[in-house]
Amino acid sequence: MSEHGIPTGAEVIAQHRWDGDYFTCSCMEPDEPDSECDEIYYVEWAEHVSAALREARTITTVEALDALPVWTVVRETALAGCIWTKTTNDWAFGGMASDGFASGAMCLPARVLYLPGEDKE
Ligand SMILES: [Zn+2]
Repeated sequence: MSEHGIPTGAEVIAQHRWDGDYFTCSCMEPDEPDSECDEIYYVEWAEHVSAALREARTITTVEALDALPVWTVVRETALAGCIWTKTTNDWAFGGMASDGFASGAMCLPARVLYLPGEDKE
C-alpha cells in the first residue's frame, strides 16, 4: 500500500478473485487471507467489490487527510458536500482562490476522487 494509506484500485481488486470454484475475498478478514465465501453469488460479490473500492477511498480522520499528497482531490460525502483540493498551502475548495484551509475545516467523511500519479497505474 502507498505511503498515504490509500490502496490502489488494483490492490483492492487483487483481494477479490474467482478461484475456479468460489469467489474469494481477503479484504474483510486480513488474518485469514483467501478466506472463501462459498455462498456468495456473483451480483453480491460485485456489489461487495464495489463497496470495498468506495470504502478504501473514504477518509474519516484529519490525520488521514494530512497524509494525502498535494493535488489530491476529495469530496465530502454529505449530500451537498464540498469538493476540496490539497495544495501546498493546506486545502482549497471551490477554486484556488479559497486556498489555505486546514484539514479540520472539512466535514468528514470525504471520498478521494483523485490521487496524483494514479492515472499512471
Ligand atoms: Zn472483500
